[in-house]
Amino acid sequence: MATVVFDFDSTLVTCESMEEMARSKVDAATLQEVQAITRHGMSGEIDFLASLKKRLSLVALTRDDCIHFAERAYHYLTPGMAQLIADLQAKGIAIWVVSGACREILLPIGRQLQIPEEHLLGINLKWSPEGGLAGIDEALPINRSKWEGAQAYSRSWTSPIIAVGDGVTDYALYEHGLADHFIAFTQNARRSALLDKGVAEARSVKQLRELLM
Ligand SMILES: [Mg+2]
Repeated sequence: MATVVFDFDSTLVTCESMEEMARSKVDAATLQEVQAITRHGMSGEIDFLASLKKRLSLVALTRDDCIHFAERAYHYLTPGMAQLIADLQAKGIAIWVVSGACREILLPIGRQLQIPEEHLLGINLKWSPEGGLAGIDEALPINRSKWEGAQAYSRSWTSPIIAVGDGVTDYALYEHGLADHFIAFTQNARRSALLDKGVAEARSVKQLRELLM
C-alpha cells in the first residue's frame, strides 16, 4: 500500500504557523522580517535550521503560543484536506506528516485527523519550566532538516511514496530518495523556486485528490 507524506504549513493548513503565532506578538516590521525568512527558507536560499533559529528569536516563541495555535489549528485546515486524508486512509494508504512546525502543534491536529502520533514528525524545542524557549537540540536530525529527520522513518514507508508540499524543503524528500514522487501543492503558496524544478503541481485539493486517488 502507498504512503503519502504531507507537509504541514501552507499545505495541510492554509497558513505558516510561525507567522500566525507571530502576528499577535510582534510589530508589523518584525512580522515582515519573519515572513521574508520563511520565504527564503522555503525557496532554499537559507538552510532550515538557520531560518528556524532566526524566526524563533524574532518571535520569542513560548510553549503557550504553540498550545494556543494548536487549539485553533483545525480551523486553519485547508478546506477539503481532512476529507481527502480520511478517504486516503480508508483506502489503506498510510499518512505521514513531516513538518518544520513543532510537535506541540502537530500532535493535537494529528489526533483530530486520526493520523497515528508516530507518523507526525516535527521539530523538538526545549522549554524552560516557565514555558519559554530554552533552545534547540541541533544534533536531532528533524531539527536540522525535514529529509534528515524523516530518513530513519522512511525505511518503514511502503511504495509508492508520494511527498506533497509547497517548499523546496519538501521536495528534498524526493531529491534525497525518500519519496518516489513529489507533488507541489500550490493552493496556499505558489513558489517559483519549487515550480522551476519542473515538478507535478496540484493547484487545489481537488487536483491533489485526482493525482493521489
Ligand atoms: Mg509548507
